[in-house]
Amino acid sequence: MDDSRDQGRRTRRGPMVKFGLALTLLALVMLAPMLAWNLPGEKTALGTNYTLRSAQLASGKSTTARWDPCQKAITWQVNMAGWPAKKRPAMLKQIQSAVAQVSRITGMKYRYAGTTTFTPRQENLVSAPADIVVAVINPKTTNFSFSENSLGYGGVLWATWYGGDGEGAAVVRGYAVLIPSGMNKLKAGFGKGNTQGNVILHEMAHAAGLDHVRSSKQQMYPDLTAKSPNGYASGDLQGLGKVGKKAGCITIPDRVNITNYD
Ligand SMILES: [Zn+2]
Repeated sequence: MDDSRDQGRRTRRGPMVKFGLALTLLALVMLAPMLAWNLPGEKTALGTNYTLRSAQLASGKSTTARWDPCQKAITWQVNMAGWPAKKRPAMLKQIQSAVAQVSRITGMKYRYAGTTTFTPRQENLVSAPADIVVAVINPKTTNFSFSENSLGYGGVLWATWYGGDGEGAAVVRGYAVLIPSGMNKLKAGFGKGNTQGNVILHEMAHAAGLDHVRSSKQQMYPDLTAKSPNGYASGDLQGLGKVGKKAGCITIPDRVNITNYD
């Protein structure tokens, strides 16, 4: 029932590279006998330039864990409780810009649905008030593991199903947590290196379904460094393309009983 789950932690220690792949032990939550809810990723080998998340199906086959790219919209809300009120509009703009990029690359529609006080935790993602919650909050209010160098976390929750109509999997929730103390040390805006924009792009790609990579030339490298690329690099673009509209629609059966925020 449990295994190591990569929560997609991005860390930074001074200007140097730090290896910090977060492994968190999470339990699967069974909502119904034919459904399994999974928090991020089977612990699979990381790709060089992009890594898709793989969902294990009942038959033993695996499939890519991704959103139904044909859903009317992936709604998202923000919780900026941990960010100074004065700086919230600028932060929101950055997040909106990152979401717009992911939308453009994947072909998936996103819809901003305002603010929330919801704090993403390991066990409450099913009841999130939107498909994705982006939270700039004190990490102590969540139960994702973090270190003093953490900048953020991002990931997805997916459902797998089987039955008379076959089996499948789809991402049904995403989350991104941005850690104020870390974000504060970074340059605001987008651009190469240690920028807030790069962290947001990284976490939003987790929330779109991507896992970490081994190449430090990609934005999905687990650590932010002075050499981090300006925005998404070629592997990131490839990966996002593979979880988007080109991969085809997913029909999620009704028994995956989760609020649809379209
Ligand atoms: Zn990450």
